[in-house]
Amino acid sequence: MKIHHLNCGILHAPPSPKASCHCLLIEHESRLVLVDTGIGLEDIKHPVERIGQFAIEAAGFQFHEELTAARQVEKRGFKIADVTDIVLTHGDQDHAGGLADFPSARVHVSVEELAAIESNCGRYSADQFAHGPRWAAHGGSSVRWFGLEARPLALVPGCEIYLVPLFGHTLGHCGVAVHEGERWLLHVGDAYYLKAELSTDDHPVSALAAMRAEDDALRRASLSELRRLVREHAAEIDMVGYHDFGEFPAGMV
Ligand SMILES: [Zn+2]
Repeated sequence: MKIHHLNCGILHAPPSPKASCHCLLIEHESRLVLVDTGIGLEDIKHPVERIGQFAIEAAGFQFHEELTAARQVEKRGFKIADVTDIVLTHGDQDHAGGLADFPSARVHVSVEELAAIESNCGRYSADQFAHGPRWAAHGGSSVRWFGLEARPLALVPGCEIYLVPLFGHTLGHCGVAVHEGERWLLHVGDAYYLKAELSTDDHPVSALAAMRAEDDALRRASLSELRRLVREHAAEIDMVGYHDFGEFPAGMV
């Protein structure tokens, strides 16, 4: 199994630092699993319709075709249809934009997040889901992963992948844990924007995180669980977030 780290988009709204869209492409034999989908080809063709002028300006969306997951999958010599499964941390516009570029993939998400997406609450872009994703919604589980609930995704034989509820940013927001050799990689989605939030509540980005949270008490509880994992299990778990450019392995972006 090989994990590729892809930056599938750029958001830049000064004074916030330039933000990445850090997706994972998990390669296992002939199959690919994509974790989050970044800004997609359809977003680039129809930005205002799909994202809205207000959000484009507020979040600083940039549109670069070569950064889309679809183009990066092709550039590595794979076919779009090789992406059999997508794991979505949550349905925000900067995470779900590429879904339509992989129409045959099964899309794994928590039941809570799918309910939120289907409630048309205004946070999400209905256009980004209008193609009819092949949803696979995963509900509560008794499995535990380092003390947290873990919802097993039986995607590829011999490859352990879990949805790990880290609610708060959105009502069904999850991290994605992947067993990679001896260690675990936890993609935390937007449970933090910048890794600095693991060590302080006073970073300027913390105010933005609180403002964007659907349930800020839950968001803070999830963040404190991540801090516990860092304190107690740093030797077993690597962590990456979606928006911190500093978290790409050296030379990958
Ligand atoms: Zn985001």
